[in-house]
Amino acid sequence: MMSDCLFCKIEAEEIPSDRVYEDDKVIVFKDIYPKASVHLLMIPRQHIDSLATVTGKDQDLLGYMLAKVPEIARDAGLDGGFRTIINTGADGGQEVFHIHLHILGGSKLPFA
Ligand code: AMP
Ligand code: ZN
Repeated sequence: MMSDCLFCKIEAEEIPSDRVYEDDKVIVFKDIYPKASVHLLMIPRQHIDSLATVTGKDQDLLGYMLAKVPEIARDAGLDGGFRTIINTGADGGQEVFHIHLHILGGSKLPFA
């Protein structure tokens, strides 16, 4: 756990979140400022700064996260499709430096 990391604090339940899924590897919770009618964030329990710092040792975990998305999307009722986003670094618009996958949907999204 990184003591100054917002998402590590959410993982440790030091900060509340509206969780929709959790297991031993990941947590999925509702984004506090939703940009679509459904806006979820998936984080690994383990702290990784960003996609830019991922290495080969993380590949099983990242593969696990991506392979978990369809189940999360189904459970969230995203039958019409969804968008997944990983913002990376300052230029990529990353605000929280604990890697996370945005899952957005619930209606037709504007072009991005
Ligand atoms: P990013 O810009 O990719 O780093 O995304 C960070 C996301 O975290 C933003 O969409 C924020 O709305 C969201 N966020 C920030 N604080 C919280 C929080 N306490 N609970 C849930 N989502 C949050
Ligand atoms: Zn963290």
